[in-house]
Amino acid sequence: MIKKICLAICFITLSASLHAQDYLLHVGKMIDVEKLKVLENRTIRVSGNKIVSIEKGYSKAIGTETIVDLTNKTVMPGLMDVHVHLSGEVNKASYSERFFMSNTDAALRSTVFAKQTLDAGFTTVRDLGDLAPGVVVSLRKAIDKGYIQGPRIFAAGKSIATTGGHADPTNGVRPDMMLDPGPKQGVINGPIEAIKAVRQRYKEGSDVIKLTVTGGVLSLAKSGSNPQFTQEELDAVVKAAKDYDFVVAVHAHGAEGMKRAVLAGVDSVEHGTYMDDEVMRLMKKKGTYYVPTITAGKWVAEKAAIEGYYPAIVQPKAAAIGPVIQSTFGKAYKKGVKIAFGTDAAVFPHGLNGREFKYMEEAGMPAIETIQSATLNTAKLLRIDDELGSIKAGYLADLVAVDGDPTKDLKLMEQVSFVMKDGVIYKQ
Ligand SMILES: [Zn+2]
Repeated sequence: MIKKICLAICFITLSASLHAQDYLLHVGKMIDVEKLKVLENRTIRVSGNKIVSIEKGYSKAIGTETIVDLTNKTVMPGLMDVHVHLSGEVNKASYSERFFMSNTDAALRSTVFAKQTLDAGFTTVRDLGDLAPGVVVSLRKAIDKGYIQGPRIFAAGKSIATTGGHADPTNGVRPDMMLDPGPKQGVINGPIEAIKAVRQRYKEGSDVIKLTVTGGVLSLAKSGSNPQFTQEELDAVVKAAKDYDFVVAVHAHGAEGMKRAVLAGVDSVEHGTYMDDEVMRLMKKKGTYYVPTITAGKWVAEKAAIEGYYPAIVQPKAAAIGPVIQSTFGKAYKKGVKIAFGTDAAVFPHGLNGREFKYMEEAGMPAIETIQSATLNTAKLLRIDDELGSIKAGYLADLVAVDGDPTKDLKLMEQVSFVMKDGVIYKQ
């Protein structure tokens, strides 16, 4: 009987704490990501899922407002990582997973990765390629409905590739199991199939489109950087994507594939390893964002040094491509290419996304701009900057905080100690 009552009460307490209330956040420092300034001693008033006002000093509570003491912390907008894969995680054993794990297994596991990502301060993510078809769109729905805790998700669904290209799901398997995947499975050849693949993603509930326009590191294929889409195929994808208001992201390591994609009018280039001056100039001209994923590069370079960690066909690509990304990022930043924060979490364990900040600073970006790249810039790329990405009256209450001042020590970004999403406190 007592156990029954306790269960009921505990449930009520838990659900109450997961509803948006009225809060008064007393904030020691607050980052203005638009003006690139650190403000001191502010009160952020939150009602329901919205920010109501930002006031100088520490205001008194009115009515039912709960005061949250963040006076020894630095508060910033909820962080966004625009390159993750919540339905998987690569490690020594993961290449054989698809033979032993069902999509249901992957779905249950993805809930853990989603929570790790939210706890790390990332209140919004763009999932650029579902490794278990259908899982990420369902994960997004479950989070939106409040069944489980995780970030707001913009899902690409299945990445679109060409036959044998990075993200052809049958690469490297024995011939009788290869079959011939088509647009439905995210593999296209020619403009007509490209259009069908985009429409198929729309039908399945994707929010964004992801293409793999060059070879990639972790696929079971030889080249990590060759172009894999023709110009006609890319033009067709971008044209179809515009009809559905999709933001288009392209995985690319080699310059030729990147160039074609930028010319076609995609919104962001991911990794960008061998980006040359011509591509940087074109990206500046077209306003294309660069999403560097330095953390993934560093991680695969480190693991490639361990014998047998990656399959034999992957190891040399990881060793060659991994270490280059950080310096490419440094060059692109100096040239003035627009930068949006993204890590490729899944290549390394989910929840370590915050490492990227320090890597960006090491390559020459000032600390406060790295935070801007993960808030304001990502919001612009996702076209949600009218309600997220800044701390402003009327905006959604996505706020995170770290102890101390991250503009003086970016390692603090790896230990987010306060997380509010949509006016609900998930970590304190
Ligand atoms: Zn990726």
